[in-house]
Amino acid sequence: MPKTGSEIRESFLKYFEAKGHTRVASSALIPKDDPTLLFTNAGMVQFKNAFLGLEKRSYTRAASCQKCVRAGGKHNDLENVGVTSRHHTFFEMLGNFSFGDYFKEEAIAWAWEYLIDIVKLPQEKLWVTIYKDDDDAFAIWNKKMKVPKERIVRMGEKSNFWMLGETGPCGPCSEIIYDQGQGTGCGRAECDLNCGCDRYLEIWNLVFTQFDRDENGKLNPLAKPSIDTGMGLERLTAVIQGVKSNYDTDFFTPLIRLVEKTSGKTYGKNADNDVSIRVIADHSRALTFLIGDGILPANDGRGYVLRRILRRAARHGKLLGINKPFLHESARVVIDMMKNVYPDLADKASYITKAILNEEQRFMETLDAGLRILQEETAALKKAGQLVLPGALVFKLYDTFGFPTDLTADIVKKDNFTLDTASFEAEMEKQKQRARGAWKGSGEEAVAECYLKAASSGILSEFCGYEGVIRAESKVTAIFIDGKPVERVAEGQKADIVLDKTPFYGESGGQAGDVGYLEGDSFTFAVEDTKKPIDKFIVHKGKVLKGEIKVGAKIQEPNINWERRAAIATNHSGTHILQAALKAVLGDHIKQSGSQVTAERLRFDFTHFSKISDEELQRVEEIANDMIRRNLPVQTEVCALEDALKTGATAVFDEKYGATVRIVKMGEMSMELCGGTHVQRTGEIGLLKVIYESAIAAGVRRIEAVTGREALTHVQKAEEELKKAAGLFKANPLELADRADKLLKHTRELEKEIEALKGKLAAKDSGDLMSQVREIGGVKVLAVEVSVTDTKTLRDFGDKLRDKMESGIILLGSKAGEKALLLCMVTKDLAGKYHAGNIIKELAPLVGGSGGGRPDMAQAGGTQPENLTKIFSALEKILIK
Ligand code: ATP
Ligand code: MG
Repeated sequence: MPKTGSEIRESFLKYFEAKGHTRVASSALIPKDDPTLLFTNAGMVQFKNAFLGLEKRSYTRAASCQKCVRAGGKHNDLENVGVTSRHHTFFEMLGNFSFGDYFKEEAIAWAWEYLIDIVKLPQEKLWVTIYKDDDDAFAIWNKKMKVPKERIVRMGEKSNFWMLGETGPCGPCSEIIYDQGQGTGCGRAECDLNCGCDRYLEIWNLVFTQFDRDENGKLNPLAKPSIDTGMGLERLTAVIQGVKSNYDTDFFTPLIRLVEKTSGKTYGKNADNDVSIRVIADHSRALTFLIGDGILPANDGRGYVLRRILRRAARHGKLLGINKPFLHESARVVIDMMKNVYPDLADKASYITKAILNEEQRFMETLDAGLRILQEETAALKKAGQLVLPGALVFKLYDTFGFPTDLTADIVKKDNFTLDTASFEAEMEKQKQRARGAWKGSGEEAVAECYLKAASSGILSEFCGYEGVIRAESKVTAIFIDGKPVERVAEGQKADIVLDKTPFYGESGGQAGDVGYLEGDSFTFAVEDTKKPIDKFIVHKGKVLKGEIKVGAKIQEPNINWERRAAIATNHSGTHILQAALKAVLGDHIKQSGSQVTAERLRFDFTHFSKISDEELQRVEEIANDMIRRNLPVQTEVCALEDALKTGATAVFDEKYGATVRIVKMGEMSMELCGGTHVQRTGEIGLLKVIYESAIAAGVRRIEAVTGREALTHVQKAEEELKKAAGLFKANPLELADRADKLLKHTRELEKEIEALKGKLAAKDSGDLMSQVREIGGVKVLAVEVSVTDTKTLRDFGDKLRDKMESGIILLGSKAGEKALLLCMVTKDLAGKYHAGNIIKELAPLVGGSGGGRPDMAQAGGTQPENLTKIFSALEKILIK
């Protein structure tokens, strides 16, 4: 009988292999074809299109052990983690699937046989639930499996009816539940299957997909129903190993031991500490796998969920008294434990731990400061009898200290505080408005329904544009106007056109789509952009310039703007070369995290954890241009994905690959999986020049570069600017820096001299001004406009006047360009009677400003220097009052 977690995983897959199932490897945590889903959260995700009938597979039965994360989106168990013994952010889901093959009877019989005969669970502890109307399931469980009817519980739609969406495939489910006994969970005598506690543990969910729900909510029986099941490996392991909590299985104990060792706390001694230890153990696994699948901490999307998980774990480390980065060490334990099953973890080990350490260090820097502020504020609020944390505070913690809101909520929960989320959202919205313009979305769009429908009905296009000009005749297979399929499109109208064959490259893999014309017998269509929303489905977007186009029409001359395409190709090949050069200079951890290739330039985002020095960047340029000058042939080859990965070709983390892929090779240094269009020899690139380098997120840097003619233009422009500047300095361009340096030094000396002179002048002026001192209400007052243009000189000037005056009030105003400057001083002996700060506060609005200050000295600025005279008369009123 299998005992360890690994043995159990294997025994499940073996069992279903013996029942004719194809063992399918886990897919990545980033769902391949579904930008709307945050993470892969069930075994069926990678089979979704097979269930929908959109994709044919070589098998009709499959079994898998799928990496899942439920920490965001519809399925979010983050809050449960550490609190229950059975919920994780990351877990593995065992599952068997039938795509129109076997159905309910086999699914139930095999699940039961596996649990009772293979892993030998005691039958008397098992319960099953079925959907209230599913009499078939009842009969199978009761008659065939001999499960007593009291142990078969009918449940409602919410828990026992599964739907993919509002419409589409759906069906009843049946869960298998293990009773852990009254000693586990809430302990109430009346606890039952509906209780949220740990006692009745759901281990396996069998979904019987037998209906297709239409727009009116009607359930139409499917001709070929399907099976989708899911069983949490950690829960099954806990039950088999006879422990009451997933955290006591061999998946977690090494992690718990490590946390104990690092913190000096013992698991099982203190309830609060135990929650923290469990959270860290759980989150370490999620971090490791998420980063392994190409996600990095970021401020939005998947990266933000990852950041929240990491920061939450770090905070719980702090609660346990751990004051140094430690999660990168627990990630190593995860890697060691899991690398046999997920070998890519071993390859990425140093990358994963580096990424975690980097984020831990960043957070450490602000964690203490943030916690202190939070503590002070909550103490004050408590005193005032307030138990709601203001949105502004939550926002400040979020914005300045990197506290995700759920982390803040988590911290103050034990003191019964809640967050004012409405006002937090308002602050966020303000922030977003500030940032708008600078930010552009990830660009991921849900694929339009009309395209999906067309593609699944077999309208596909072949790309024939790799080998230069193609004159092959092709045919219009579909036309869409505003997302609706139509039969024809008239002159002047905008439309999307699909051809059976096209040399136009549809935007994908970061490469811009082609533009040009489609010419037919009696029509011309201007292609303004080309997209590839689905694999093998290319859409020409544009406008009919002449004639009318019908579905079925022949295209005689697909006319791409070849000059533009060639510029795109040099930039795309340049991107590959740049990546190879970056790896050579910075190391093998360089991974592409984004790229954009247009006719004008290339942009490459990649993982790297420190700044790139000027020397390194120069080396990168040198190596890249060496590769260009060697005029290497660019070779392409199409092969199976698995073979390609074996050769060590660079693949992009979350890129969507089909079963066959294209390898693009340039000499020995560059080999990438890529569907893009390229030059034939690297020499065509001419020159590669980096024009920009910066960080765009933690651990992600961006380089922009130009190639070919653009590169020459860039260098020429730079040289021209340099010459112009040299001309101004009357220097040789090579001596320019030296000359500029000298000049700057000279300017600084002059500035100092001017300062000194101004001081002298002020001293003289102050003498002259003393004649303007008046008496108002028994106080000596000097209120004048002076011609000083900076605040420091104004203050020095004021100091001098005050020294001369001994007792009195000084008010100086001046015009400094577009601005007005004000200064008020009150001598010591008048303190208590007059307050410079208050005087300024009253006067500043008169010149369109605001200000305040100390009782003896205050300053302000304003935007209406033309109103300066008003302040002098106003002062008189204030003093007489
Ligand atoms: P629960 O009600 O316990 O949260 P669920 O109804 O969300 O479970 P399903 O979506 O049916 O679960 O997932 C199938 C199986 O995956 C479950 O029976 C359980 O064994 C396992 N599972 C689900 N969520 C988690 C989780 N967060 N951590 C570990 N295992 C899980
Ligand atoms: Mg759940």
